[in-house]
Amino acid sequence: MQQERSLKRRQNEWQGNEQMAQWTKCLIPDTREWIKCLHRRSNYFLTQELTRHGAFKAYTKTIGKSKNDFCRFCERVDTVEHTISGKDKWNAGHEMIKIIMKEKERKGRIRRERERD
Ligand SMILES: [Zn+2]
Repeated sequence: MQQERSLKRRQNEWQGNEQMAQWTKCLIPDTREWIKCLHRRSNYFLTQELTRHGAFKAYTKTIGKSKNDFCRFCERVDTVEHTISGKDKWNAGHEMIKIIMKEKERKGRIRRERERD
């Protein structure tokens, strides 16, 4: 009973909040359902998607980490919506892996050249 009251109070606060976390509120309108969801598990990527604070250039530009807000794969604005709903998301994943592998290869080559010298 106490827990139900607490969950209801938190839900009312959540619904009444019209200034912060509006994106998250749009994704999780009822916190009681989220709390009771058996497969509710957050991770690095889901947290970024739920908060909009992550490797989305529309966000990183606002905090001064990117010079522009364009998606590196299709040149549209890189928002969380673009990342999770874009038709290029699988290609983007493949491209991301290629970029990471190239970077690892480049760093390995630089390290080997330094060790040789
Ligand atoms: Zn894109």
